[in-house]
Amino acid sequence: MKEDLQVYDSLLQLVGNTPLIQLNKITEDFKGEFFAKLEAYNPGHSSKDRIALYIIEEAERKGLLKKGDTIIETTSGNTGFSIAMVSIIKGYNCILAVSSKSSKDKIDMLRTMGAKVYVCPAHVAADDPRSYYEVAKRLNQEIKGSVYINQYFNELNIEAHYRSTGPEIWKQTEGKITHLIACSGTGGTISGTARYLKEQNPNVNIIGIDAYGSVLKKYHETREFDSDEIYPYRIEGLGKNLIPTATDFDVIDKFIKVTDEESAHTAREIAKTEGMLVGYTSGAATQGVKQLAEQGEFDENSKVVLIFPDHGSRYMSKIYSDKWMEDQGFFDTKNEVNAKTIEFIK
Ligand code: PMP
Repeated sequence: MKEDLQVYDSLLQLVGNTPLIQLNKITEDFKGEFFAKLEAYNPGHSSKDRIALYIIEEAERKGLLKKGDTIIETTSGNTGFSIAMVSIIKGYNCILAVSSKSSKDKIDMLRTMGAKVYVCPAHVAADDPRSYYEVAKRLNQEIKGSVYINQYFNELNIEAHYRSTGPEIWKQTEGKITHLIACSGTGGTISGTARYLKEQNPNVNIIGIDAYGSVLKKYHETREFDSDEIYPYRIEGLGKNLIPTATDFDVIDKFIKVTDEESAHTAREIAKTEGMLVGYTSGAATQGVKQLAEQGEFDENSKVVLIFPDHGSRYMSKIYSDKWMEDQGFFDTKNEVNAKTIEFIK
């Protein structure tokens, strides 16, 4: 912050230090206290601001990046947006190789943020030269002075959360946290946060949320990659069809799985009960808490922190659209967003 003037030098000073908010209604029937870490308060509206800024600044410290250089990643999701935002502010080019499955809205959003987007065919093998992994790798080799973020296989993804999310939660709960509940995609958030929390108190329970159709839970339990576990599912951002090295399975106590449908209903319920418009995986984390409460995981002394990774505005045409919900067969009689909340005056 500049002296005297109450201004920030740039948005980058606002990355991290997100608020922890008590959940008052959705968890009221459960024993313990529940707090949501609202990562939508980052300037790029998700937890991915932390890793984008941290990994890019590490590359600067190592002398790998200078103004005008290029940053490359393979995502149309939150990470792409955060990298594009940091790149603009710091003066780098940003290239994102994305799957042709990505929505037009998402691609337009990244282009609006100055990124060059390569749209790669979705239905080719990961080692096909046209896949977004291979396109990103090739561009990284071809473009001098480029850095490939590679969030699924980058240890700095874990480190970013070890240095920021973990200490913030420890301080915000005055060391009283008993459980951390976080969705696992790359695994960076849960692993880095857990590593820090376990160093402070090894008894903190770390519970990862996985999707049906993903290999993570089984891998955690057996250390076996079982391709029979893989099938398509709708929640974006959690679960995986490969084992990311950015997940430290040793600091996670257990995984539980949640369904697409229940997670979507729960996200809508959070909006209606807490007034928080949250993303799909925030619904998944809260759905996980519901299941854990039913299994007797919590008691009167539990202080449970849930990571809410992003904002609901990115899902208006998905979980917050009655039409989309019906198309998936997720008919919602309790929490319609549109049906009963709109009247046309003729
Ligand atoms: N929720 C959303 C919406 C995400 O985009 C991600 C990132 N893939 C996650 C949860 C999981 O975070 P992480 O990659 O750190 O495991």
